[in-house]
Amino acid sequence: MIRFENVTKRYADGTTAVDELSFEVADGELVTLVGPSGCGKTTTMKMVNRLIEPSSGRIFLDNEDISTVDPVQLRRRIGYVIQQVGLFPHKTVLDNTATVPHLLGTGRAKARARAAELLDLVGLDPKVYGERYPEQLSGGQRQRVGVARALAADPPVLLMDEPFGAVDPVVRERLQSEFLRLQQEVRKTVLFVTHDIEEAVRLGDRIAVYGQGRIEQFDTPSAVLGAP
Ligand code: ADP
Ligand code: ADP
Repeated sequence: MIRFENVTKRYADGTTAVDELSFEVADGELVTLVGPSGCGKTTTMKMVNRLIEPSSGRIFLDNEDISTVDPVQLRRRIGYVIQQVGLFPHKTVLDNTATVPHLLGTGRAKARARAAELLDLVGLDPKVYGERYPEQLSGGQRQRVGVARALAADPPVLLMDEPFGAVDPVVRERLQSEFLRLQQEVRKTVLFVTHDIEEAVRLGDRIAVYGQGRIEQFDTPSAVLGAP
């Protein structure tokens, strides 16, 4: 569970990026954050894993105030996927996926076996792609590796910031379907930023519709679309 209580973020230059934000996301729920550029979506996400700190208000993860949790410990509970996935260029796809769990203490063989499973789950046959390097993949395939890598440490929470934004519409649609299917299986608590309302509707259990620094509507896709 993620809960924001009256969270405001004012940057050093005086910009109020989010203003008195309060909302709650249940365990296993996928919430999409949608709205125009500059309305505070990324700022919201980065406060959850303490990449930035709120100016005021409190954020809870499983009823624990995250300002009391060591950021490194916190980030072990939270996977982060961004548009430019930043894979290690000199590591194979399999090693990119296995590295973090290995660093966290999982044995190498076990970490690689799990990585192969996850690559399969995101639709990349590990026998075909496992030993390739990132530059030998398409954009859509790199995004899949990014998702597999975020899942590898098995975090209960995933933050996804326009993870499918850099690929063409056909590939994006495929990634969306596969991600939905995957989420049925893994049931992470997900905050998913997009500026594409169709993507927000398709993926979200609920949608947070942002205006400038505020959530103007927070409801199911059918309610947001105004369906009966
Ligand atoms: P979104 O993700 O919805 O595009 P952001 O959270 O990135 O929005 O930005 C919200 C507002 O905060 C914007 O006006 C943006 O220019 C501003 N902003 C973001 N990061 C910084 C920063 N480091 N310093 C000052 N202003 C920032
Ligand atoms: P996607 O639809 O996933 O974006 P593409 O149509 O871009 O895929 O790529 C099709 C195939 O070509 C994929 O199997 C991919 O692995 C392969 N491919 C793309 N770029 C390269 C490259 N630079 N080197 C080797 N194979 C590549």
